[in-house]
Amino acid sequence: MRIALARESAPGEARVAMVPELVGGLITAGYELAVQPGAGQGAMITDDAYAAAGATITEDALQGAELIIGVQPLPAELVAGLPPGTATLSFLPYTQDLEAVRIRRDARITSFAMDLVPRISRAQSMDALTSQAMVSGYRGAIVAAGMLHQFFPMSMTAAGTIPPAQVVVLGAGVAGLQAIATARRLGAVVKGYDVRPAAAEEIASMGAIAIDLGLPPLDGAGGYAREMSEERALLQQERLTPYLAAADAVITTAAVPNRKPPILVTRAMIERMKPDSVIVDLAADTGGNVEDVQPGTVTRIGQARVWGGANVPSQLPGPASRLYAQNVANVIMLMTADGRFAPDPADEVVAGMCLTRDGMITHGPAAILIDDTALIDDTRGQPR
Ligand code: NAD
Repeated sequence: MRIALARESAPGEARVAMVPELVGGLITAGYELAVQPGAGQGAMITDDAYAAAGATITEDALQGAELIIGVQPLPAELVAGLPPGTATLSFLPYTQDLEAVRIRRDARITSFAMDLVPRISRAQSMDALTSQAMVSGYRGAIVAAGMLHQFFPMSMTAAGTIPPAQVVVLGAGVAGLQAIATARRLGAVVKGYDVRPAAAEEIASMGAIAIDLGLPPLDGAGGYAREMSEERALLQQERLTPYLAAADAVITTAAVPNRKPPILVTRAMIERMKPDSVIVDLAADTGGNVEDVQPGTVTRIGQARVWGGANVPSQLPGPASRLYAQNVANVIMLMTADGRFAPDPADEVVAGMCLTRDGMITHGPAAILIDDTALIDDTRGQPR
C-alpha cells in the first residue's frame, strides 16, 4: 500500500507533510512511502534523508498511491488524473475554494481536510490548526521583537536602565497564547485581550495581564468566539485605544470560524500609537485584524509599521513540518486497520474530516454551499 508525498506546488509553501523521523512508523504499519524528488526542499529535508529513512524517491510517486498527503491541496490538474477511490489528506479550506471540492467529487476522490479535524480531546494529536497556530504565534512574537528598535527585556546596567517593551496581544487562542508566552520569555511586559472570559485565566497563567474592557463576553460553540455586532466592535475599539497608545508592539491573532477576521485595530487607533511602534497581524492572510493590512508586506500607517503575515507557519518550515507531519501520521494511524488503509466512515474524526467520497460531498456545510449558491454571501464567499 503506497502513500505518496507530493511536492508542494502552492507559491511560498515551504512546509512538507512528512518528515524522515516518522517514515519508519508508516513502514512498520505496513505502508510504502513514495516521495517526489525535492518534496522536502523547502523545509531543508533532502531526498537522501527520506531514502535513508526507508522511503522510495520517485517522480512517479503518485502512481498506484492509495493515499496522497500534502500541506496544501493537490492542484486540480493532478486530482483530475487520479484513479477513482484515491484518498488525499491535506489542508482544504473549502470555503475559500469550492471548485476544489467539486473537482474532487467529480473525480470520485476521497478527500480528507486537516482543517476539519474535530476539536475534541481524542483528536488533539491530529489537530493541525492548533500545531500550526502555535508556530504562528511564536513567529509573531519573534517578528515583533525583531522589528522593534528597542529591547524586549528590562536591562539594568552600570550605564543605566533600559525599560522593558510593552506588548499587547489581541486574541488569546492557540496563536495568541503562544505569542504571549514567547514575548514574556523575551522579557516584555505583556497584556492580552480576548472576548472569551476563559481566556483571562490563560493569559494570566502565561505571566501576562488580562485586559478587561467591561464588555459582554462572546463565547460561541466549541470554545470558539462569536462574531461581534457593529456596536460592540466600536465600543471594543474605543476601549482598546488607550492600551494600544501605551504599547510598543501589538500582535493580533483574532479569528471567528468561517468568518472574515474582525477588525480590531483601525487606522484611527494606530494614529494614536507611539512613534516607531510595531503591529504584527497574524490574521492578515484571511483579511486581517488591522484595517488596510497587506499580507506579506510591511505597511507604514501613521507612525507605526504594520507587518501583515502571509502563510506564517511556513516561515518556520522545520518545526511547522515536524508538527504537521506528526498530525498527519496520527490521522493515518487512525485510518489504518489490520495493516490496511481503511478509514472508518462511522468514526467521528474520520467523518468530520471527510469532504468528498464516492462522488458525493459528505460534509454538510460544503454540500449546502455548492448545491445552493443562494446561501453564499457574495461579499465574503462564506455561509450566511
Ligand atoms: P481562533 O483561531 O478561532 O481565534 C483566535 C482567538 O481570537 C480566540 O481565542 C478568539 O476568542 C479570539 N477572538 C475572536 N474574536 C475576537 C475579538 N473580536 N476580539 C478579541 N479576540 C477575539 O481560535 P483558536 O486559537 O483556534 O482556539 C479557540 C479556542 O479553542 C481556545 O479556547 C482553545 O483552547 C480551544 N481549542 C480546543 C481544542 C480541542 O479541544 N482539541 C483544540 C484547539 C483549540
